[in-house]
Amino acid sequence: MLQARGVRKSFGTVEVLKGIDLDVRQGQVVSLIGASGSGKTTFLRCVNLLEEHDGGDILLDGDPIGYRVADGRRKRLSETKVSAQRARIGMVFQSFNLFPHLTAEGNVMLGLTKVLGKGKAEARDIAGHWLDRVGLGARRGHYPYQLSGGQQQRVAIARAVAMQPRLLLFDEVTSALDPELVAEVLGVMQKLAEEGMTMLVVSHEMLFVREVSHHVVFMDQGRVAQAGSPAEIFDRPENERLKGFLGRFH
Ligand code: ATP
Repeated sequence: MLQARGVRKSFGTVEVLKGIDLDVRQGQVVSLIGASGSGKTTFLRCVNLLEEHDGGDILLDGDPIGYRVADGRRKRLSETKVSAQRARIGMVFQSFNLFPHLTAEGNVMLGLTKVLGKGKAEARDIAGHWLDRVGLGARRGHYPYQLSGGQQQRVAIARAVAMQPRLLLFDEVTSALDPELVAEVLGVMQKLAEEGMTMLVVSHEMLFVREVSHHVVFMDQGRVAQAGSPAEIFDRPENERLKGFLGRFH
């Protein structure tokens, strides 16, 4: 479903992604792990068109992300086309990013009405369904400031899934949470994974990564240093930098 080939990205003179190859198949959970600064977030942002990659290809269901090829040359997509591509990919951020002036229900409804053009009644039904699914049906009328961090993040997940994206990106979604709130968010993600949601996850929660992922990619200094099944990565790491990285979690 998602194919990345030789993806490069620089900020000024600093090359942050040095040719990333990665595949996510339908129904798979693929996790990106690696030290701070290895380029994990930048890669996710390229997939979601929040950054434009400089080289290589990112294909979603065979379509290049951010450009089309005409007369053998790349042409950047119009804003409308970019928005349409972005709607196929959901993203949940470390910092929740809920609209503070909208209730939990209002936050989930917004994209359904504004981006997908659904009527209010239908959007409210869908929002209610997904808020129930993340265990917040009773809090649908609460504003973000009335919710805990874990609850806010679950609203953010409900908001992303309600749009029925092809692929859901998670960028360190538990890093800003108090430790006792982490499990409730990981629990929601695990349930989604078990139901076959296709997910690309950046996380430092190694137990979660190990248990839920089909495929794990270790990034080091803008490159994929080792990739494989959870057992290959965690039980049989070959790359010295991966060994060092995992050593920090024991
Ligand atoms: P972390 O786990 O800390 O989030 P990461 O692996 O996700 O790290 P990135 O956030 O992708 O790493 O950052 C990779 C490198 O790119 C870092 O050195 C960072 O300073 C740099 N970088 C990221 N975004 C920008 C930007 N907009 N402008 C300049 N440099 C950037």
